[in-house]
Amino acid sequence: MQLQSYAAGRWRSGTGDGAALRDATTGEVIAHASAAGLDAAAMLAWARAVGGPNLRRLTFHERAALLKAVARDLSEHKDEYYPVSFATGATRGDSWIDIDGGISTLFVYASKGTRELPNSAVYVDGSVEALSKTGTFVGQHLCVPLEGAAVHINAFNFPVWGMLEKLAPALLAGVPAIVKPAKQTSYLTERVFRRILESGILPEGAVQLICGGVGDLFAHLTCQDVVSFTGSAATALGLRQHPTVTANSVRFTAETDSLNSSILGPDAHPGSPELDLFVREVVREMTVKAGQKCTAIRKAIVPQARAGEVIDALRAALAKVVVGDPRLEQVRMGPVASLSQRREVTEQLVKLEQETEVVAGGTGKPQLLGADAERGAFMAPTLLYCRDAARGRAIHSVEAFGPVCTVVPYRDTGDAIELARRGGGSLAGSVFTADDAVAAQLVLGLAPFHGRIVVVNRHCAKESTGHGSPLPHLVHGGPGRAGGGEEMGGIRGVMHYLQRTAVQGTPDVITAASGRWIRGARELDPGVHPFRKPFGSLKIGDTFHSPEREVTVDDIERFAALSGDRFYAHMNEAEAQRNPLFGGRVAHGYFLVSAAAGLFVDAPYGPVLANYGIDSLRFVKPVKPGDRIRVRLTAKEKSLRAGAGYGEVRWDTAITNQNGEAVANYDVLTMVSEKAIPDA
Ligand code: NAP
Repeated sequence: MQLQSYAAGRWRSGTGDGAALRDATTGEVIAHASAAGLDAAAMLAWARAVGGPNLRRLTFHERAALLKAVARDLSEHKDEYYPVSFATGATRGDSWIDIDGGISTLFVYASKGTRELPNSAVYVDGSVEALSKTGTFVGQHLCVPLEGAAVHINAFNFPVWGMLEKLAPALLAGVPAIVKPAKQTSYLTERVFRRILESGILPEGAVQLICGGVGDLFAHLTCQDVVSFTGSAATALGLRQHPTVTANSVRFTAETDSLNSSILGPDAHPGSPELDLFVREVVREMTVKAGQKCTAIRKAIVPQARAGEVIDALRAALAKVVVGDPRLEQVRMGPVASLSQRREVTEQLVKLEQETEVVAGGTGKPQLLGADAERGAFMAPTLLYCRDAARGRAIHSVEAFGPVCTVVPYRDTGDAIELARRGGGSLAGSVFTADDAVAAQLVLGLAPFHGRIVVVNRHCAKESTGHGSPLPHLVHGGPGRAGGGEEMGGIRGVMHYLQRTAVQGTPDVITAASGRWIRGARELDPGVHPFRKPFGSLKIGDTFHSPEREVTVDDIERFAALSGDRFYAHMNEAEAQRNPLFGGRVAHGYFLVSAAAGLFVDAPYGPVLANYGIDSLRFVKPVKPGDRIRVRLTAKEKSLRAGAGYGEVRWDTAITNQNGEAVANYDVLTMVSEKAIPDA
């Protein structure tokens, strides 16, 4: 089969035979990949002219809905991808991480996009910055989608997840993507990509695919494009230094190789849950995807006194791992992705062996179930022991991207931190300890050199997601050797594809540009109480001013009786006098919020369905008996829930006293029906 690329709206074949892609177990050729002759400049132009405008026409919520629809569709067809995935050397469990893990990343982004981003095209970042005395000139950071293409270059080890975890934030941001999978396993990526296209869910131009080399694509990048790279540090370095990338300051995110550590706490001992959990995790990390995970544990850092016991336990557990044809249910570990990959890992292993002892596995042929060691890219899970960790060099610099891990002994926690940090920047680290103080010391010591740290003990082990699993909610990436980039991390990942612009001007200008009312901007007279207006006719800026209400001692007494809050500052004049902030009895803050609702609420049945919360509540000035309060309520932001029949409306709310001084500020959050009189 000759893999095709999808470029500028058409499937196209590269010229020539291209690279032969083989089944990792049998060595059979299953596809050829070539993108030679592909017009990379035309692909970028297509993304900019067609995909970008099509995506930017949509709001964040509409794009989130597309992601959800794609995730659902892929989920329905996922059984078609598992058989293909076996060819990459993945067992069913490995494929689950890749395929289901990728689909669930889309689901998470769809959900986060709907809950955490506005139903508009502009993301308002942070609050208004006051830049002038009287408030006529303010600043606000706004984020809008870049108008170029997202170029996604993926590694071979996660052909599905790798594509989807990069696509989700880019598409949510409104930026079209050009996906370039690693050749070795691109037949699986192509299969899933084809389904995305055939589903017809994404607008024209939103995604393109290159199965093969990228040609001269980098020479056509501009400041509106983003490169997101996953692969080796050497390739990242070359691409980062491409003259066009540097000349045009093209955004470049890299996730590269990484030496990740797991530390067993000094409190762990034979029989303690943490030691057992540690052993299980190290074995899992060595064998899942045959150790071809950028986050896999390469250094198992253990207390010197426990090294012998840990090695014995690891050796015993590794002896039970069945290696062979990943299609067989009993097989726990398949081959690495290709013979060339095995050669590469073996070369690195030889370097590590210079300063370590092989305590399990090694470069010899492993015992296999249902497979031929001559044809497939098999390796034995290999455990090394470095007695003199301080003098070790290779263990801190050589990544054998396969089922290889080194046990490294440490003297004390400071030493353990130092040994982990010598990786020069890692994607993930883990700590196994039941001692929270030790955990805190290790976490803070590791943090400057790690993108993610997971602490496992007996209390969370059952629910822990494990050392090696990047999650869409959390940042994936790491400093230094790990590439210096960040992906995912929820909405943080979307920001890579948005331009943040500091906009300065009058509150009216900021309100008009952002679609969000800010204080100082024009207040509109809605003609009726704004609670009588259905979602569609409510305007940003529609304002209600309440009448005044005097706060009395009786109010305070009755609120205390009702709520049970009898704090001295409300109830006891003499003690309240001693309070340096109040100098006498004051009303409960929560009474003020309740009284404010009494002042602004429009009671009869109507379009406002519910109040679902309050944001950013601040009590600015105490209210004393005899003070008179009033409320201003202004429609600040609207977000329609597609298909739900209602939208969310955020109201800027200010309580002031008889002198016009601010007493409390907050946002009231409501759900407002699209209909004037909603159905029962
Ligand atoms: P690689 O050789 O650097 O390849 C990575 C990607 O870059 C592939 O898609 C490759 O395409 C492409 N590429 C290579 N040269 C290129 C060029 N001149 N222009 C544009 N694209 C180019 O890495 P690998 O050996 O496949 O992957 C293994 C490495 O990736 C390991 O070191 C591992 O630690 C790292 N990794 C990191 C992460 C992470 O999230 N940090 C995840 C997985 C893997 P071709 O296949 O067509 O050459």
